[in-house]
Amino acid sequence: MERRVYIETYGCQMNEHDSERMLRLLEGISYSETKEPKDADFILINTCSVREKPEHKVYSALGRFKKYKEENGAIIGVAGCVAQQEGERLLDRIPYLDMVIGTHAIPMLPQLLQKIEVSGERLCETSFDKNGKYLEAIFPRKPLDKIKSYVTIMQGCDHFCSFCIVPYVRGREQSRPGCEIIEEVKNLAEGGVKEIFLLGQNVNGYGKGLKGELTFPGLLRQIDEIDGIERIRFTTSHPKDLSEDLIQAYSRLSKLCEHIHLPFQSGSNKILRSMHRGYTRESYLEKIDRLRERCPSIALTADVIVGFPGEEEEDFKKTLDLMEKVRFDDLFSFKYSPRKGTQAAEFEDRVEEKVKQDRLSILQEIQREITFQKNQALVGSVEEVLVEGQSKQSDRDVTGRTRSNKIVNVEGDIQSLTGKLVPVRITKAFPHSVRGEIVNRKSIESRVTDTIDIAVS
Ligand code: SAM
Ligand code: SF4
Repeated sequence: MERRVYIETYGCQMNEHDSERMLRLLEGISYSETKEPKDADFILINTCSVREKPEHKVYSALGRFKKYKEENGAIIGVAGCVAQQEGERLLDRIPYLDMVIGTHAIPMLPQLLQKIEVSGERLCETSFDKNGKYLEAIFPRKPLDKIKSYVTIMQGCDHFCSFCIVPYVRGREQSRPGCEIIEEVKNLAEGGVKEIFLLGQNVNGYGKGLKGELTFPGLLRQIDEIDGIERIRFTTSHPKDLSEDLIQAYSRLSKLCEHIHLPFQSGSNKILRSMHRGYTRESYLEKIDRLRERCPSIALTADVIVGFPGEEEEDFKKTLDLMEKVRFDDLFSFKYSPRKGTQAAEFEDRVEEKVKQDRLSILQEIQREITFQKNQALVGSVEEVLVEGQSKQSDRDVTGRTRSNKIVNVEGDIQSLTGKLVPVRITKAFPHSVRGEIVNRKSIESRVTDTIDIAVS
């Protein structure tokens, strides 16, 4: 019998991808996706506990879904980082919750669900899998119909930054064997995927513990050779471990997009030390210089935290100074949020909430202006855009991204352009995107591949 699943996802790309993988597994036991929780036989909340805010969302979502349990008998489950962290406590706390499934238990989802369907038991599975089986690819049953796809290359983290919950809820670093990753990417390429987004909490650590000597840049080189794949992106790279080999890959691999997300967290050495980040502002800035030397057009984005315990005005000014020096294309900025079980949660010199908020507002205002200026600087240039589909802004527009990851909207036919690389002249800048017009493909630099003949507009 065909049944329906509704999945609500919070948090990072890793969680988005885990939700996709869970959906594929559920398709194997005759579940199809619904976007309406009221129509679902199974409601699954895939959670994030990196900060307090997303963690709280889980409890409000559970409150919203309670009525579907009462009215329709829906089975309700919680997956992801909160599930891993809270385990049985969640079942104790929420009497109408049926399933808690941890970050390493994804492959067990179908069996757990079937067991609940038959017996009505309430189940919790949060053990860690040290063999990395949980990372194996879950191939879709139907054609993917996608232009871009995530591929997990590793999970977990060995860094233990003093603010971060990830090593506790995702476990130690485990890398997938290169041959499995290559097989998955080839499969995606055959299914029409053009852009691969490699995922790992610390991609520079890729290969540790694997037989052989495959490193992250080595893996990139292998993926770069796969026919059909046009673009490669990845996240996240830790500044401490950013190697010269990876920096060089930007000028050597034609499919590696000119963008790196390199979280700096703070511009103050005092705070970086107490965060246990393992680098200084000077060594971070040096790596940025090396990246720009090797790849002058590289776009830079980062994560930054304000209001970490002990952060004084002087430290915050150093963060602003680092931002002004680098001029990031975009920044993901957060107020420090104490996470139970992490070292920094025990630090006593906490920063007042109002100070954190004020610092965040100042920082975001500065970054808004820089991002806008960066977008304005693109006006007049011709960029290669991978068209992803219909734009949200107008029925007549399609949307896509440049190699530097800027969102571009352009007038054009969705059917013929989706999945194609097209040359676009940027005509107008907005705070979070740019607008352009498709031009003759001869007007873009030689790096544009020969995949489309566009009528000259
Ligand atoms: N592995 C990545 C790295 O080291 O750069 C980061 C992964 S973490 C899931 C994503 C971002 O969340 C971090 O870069 C950090 O800025 C932010 N973050 C993590 N823990 C936080 C906390 N306790 N409070 C505020 N922000 C936090
Ligand atoms: Fe968290 Fe640090 Fe690991 Fe990133 S490197 S996941 S911030 S512990």
